[in-house]
Order: sequence, then C-alpha cells, then structure tokens
Amino acid sequence: MTTHQYEITVIGGGPVGMFATFYAGLRSADVLLVESLANLGGQPYNLYPAKKLYDIAGFVESNGQALTEQLQQQLEHFNPEIRLATMVTAINQLDDGSYELETTTGTILTKTVIIATGGGAFNPRKLAIDYPPSLEETHIHYFVRDLEQFRDTRVAIAGGGDSAIDWALALAPIASEVHLIHRRNEFRGLESSVDALKNSRVILHTPYLISDLRDTDPLTLELKEVRGDNIETLTVDHLLVNYGFMSDNKQLRNWDLTLDRTAIAVNSQMMTNRPGIFAIGDAAAYPGKLALIASGFGEAPIAVSQALGLIHPDMRQALHSSQLYH
Ligand SMILES: Cc1cc2nc3c(=O)[nH]c(=O)nc-3n(C[C@H](O)[C@H](O)[C@H](O)COP(=O)(O)OP(=O)(O)OC[C@H]3O[C@@H](n4cnc5c(N)ncnc54)[C@H](O)[C@@H]3O)c2cc1C
Repeated sequence: MTTHQYEITVIGGGPVGMFATFYAGLRSADVLLVESLANLGGQPYNLYPAKKLYDIAGFVESNGQALTEQLQQQLEHFNPEIRLATMVTAINQLDDGSYELETTTGTILTKTVIIATGGGAFNPRKLAIDYPPSLEETHIHYFVRDLEQFRDTRVAIAGGGDSAIDWALALAPIASEVHLIHRRNEFRGLESSVDALKNSRVILHTPYLISDLRDTDPLTLELKEVRGDNIETLTVDHLLVNYGFMSDNKQLRNWDLTLDRTAIAVNSQMMTNRPGIFAIGDAAAYPGKLALIASGFGEAPIAVSQALGLIHPDMRQALHSSQLYH
C-alpha cells in the first residue's frame, strides 16, 4: 500500500498555522494541516473568543472568534486537507531526508514540516474530582461535537465563560433541562450572551461548585455553595465541563530541535536546526521576536516559500497574490 507523501505538513491550526496553510495553497503546494484539538483557531478561538483585537493588519477591530472565522473562510478557498483531533507526537527523518510524523491517529509522510504549535497542544482543564475514566465515554464531556446527542436529555454544564454560555444557549431548545453551574454570580461572557442566558430556560446554579459526583446512571452531582454551607443535589444524564484549556509543549523536547527557552530557535528563513523543518508563530524564537499574531502572519510566507524552494529548487519565488489566486 502506498501512503501519500505531502509536500508540506503544518503542525498546529492556530491563526498562524491556518494562514501558513492558506499561503501554501496559494503557492499550489500539496499541504496538510494537523491540529490536536477538534477545532481550528488556537489561542484566539479557544482562550479569548470575545476579546477585542486591534492589532491585526487591515482590521480596525476584530475578536478571537471573528478572526478565526475569517481565516477559515480564507483557508477553504484552496480546500486543503485538514486533520483535526490529531496530535503529532514524533518527527522521524527517513533515509531519503523526508519525514514521517507519528500522530495519535496514525502516521503522516511529508517532505517538509512547518511547526506552528504556539504555546503547545491544548487539553481541556478537567474536573477536580476523581471519577472512573469510562464516564468520559458516556456521561462526562469536555467537547461538544454534536448537539443532537443531548436531545431530550437532562444536561448540566460546568463553567462560566463564553463557551459554557454558548453551549447552554445552544442546548436550551434541544435538551429537556439545561443547568449551568458556575462558581461566581457573574459570568465572563459577551453582554448580549449573558442577557440571553438570563432570559432563557437555562437553570442557573451560582455561586456553586461540583463537590462530588456519583457514578450512577443517571449521574448524581453534589453542588456546594462557594463561601456558604448550602448543598444541592442534581440528577442529570450528561455533564459538560468547560473550564478552559491548558497548553503543554513538552512534546517539543523530544523532537531534536534546538530550543530557545520554550520556543524553537530559527534563523531569518524560519529554519530550525533540522533540515526541512521550519517553525513559525509563538513556537518560533529569534532575536527581537514578538509573540503576536501579526508577527506569525509575516513568518508564514517565509517558511512556505523556503519549504517550496527545497522541494522545487527551480521554482520562482513568491509572486503577488493576484497572480496566484484562482
Ligand atoms: C489572553 C491573550 C490575549 C492575547 N491578545 C493578543 C492580541 O491582542 N494581539 C495579538 O497579536 N496577540 C495576542 N495574543 C497572542 C496570540 O494569541 C498568539 O501570538 C497567537 O495565538 C499565536 O498563534 P499560533 O498559531 O502561533 O499559536 P496558537 O494560537 O497557540 O495555536 C497553536 C495550535 O497548535 C496546536 N498544537 C500544539 N501542539 C500540537 C501538536 N503536537 N500536534 C497538533 N497540534 C498541536 C494547538 O492545539 C493550537 O491550536 C494573546 C494571547 C492571549 C493568551
């Protein structure tokens, strides 16, 4: 069986990896984008979807979610292959100089690699209560992929940020009951979403924390009042936890790359110490580096052009986009 070999594999679907993938498409490269989470967007989408962004060139004002949507639309023009929920764990060089990436969903063959892993792979912050891991297959969820699976069921959501509120509002017309449990009385969400929440059929439990969980079917949750003595018991079919994400870049240490503190040292062509492997965005370090989206957007075309230069030494270097867009 022959396995396809990509020209460029971009690791990390944050804003910089998304733009690099778009740019590779613009240059007609055979490109694959791999992202460990089930969604693209990196830090802006997952950590601060509603925060305003004022330093994206050409946008007077944007926010994490709107920027991700624009990048997604731009990316889709070239319909690149995207592998979500796939974490790259190892980068092995083959005898011919190309690479084999080991991932959580299989291996990938590629001529060159562009690392855009930012501050590291995101993992959901888990409930601080012990429970059998098998519950994550049935009753406890950290990602919502299909709202329909909760139709006519009783759902509790733990968390008080934008995503928790969005889940609650989206589930209100679908689930038979929706409970939102948050440790503060105030929610950290867009004002319009918080207003919609207060006018919805979502039952609010604030300021409460989940203090115990009984592995029964349905689930029994014990809720404890924060700085108070009240205890409530809640019986639900599903618990959705939205406590945000933690990022972890310890994988980088196993990739034989020269590091500059926690990022990968690159030269002015975004090349790392390993031939054919480039790094951009927050994952890259060089003198004067600024960990900003704008810097990463500048680094992406450099890395893509250098990667293509290695694969096709006779290829003309970057043209203006109007000559390449089709
Ligand atoms: C609260 C906050 C506010 C900010 N405000 C601004 C601002 O106003 N302006 C600005 O310019 N910047 C801002 N930043 C910084 C900006 O978000 C980062 O510079 C930017 O997200 C870097 O983009 P990136 O694509 O390099 O990395 P990230 O956004 O971190 O994306 C990296 C992606 O790679 C994935 N990944 C990691 N490891 C793997 C792996 N092994 N396999 C597969 N996938 C992997 C991750 O899941 C993630 O999706 C802010 C950051 C924070 C935290």
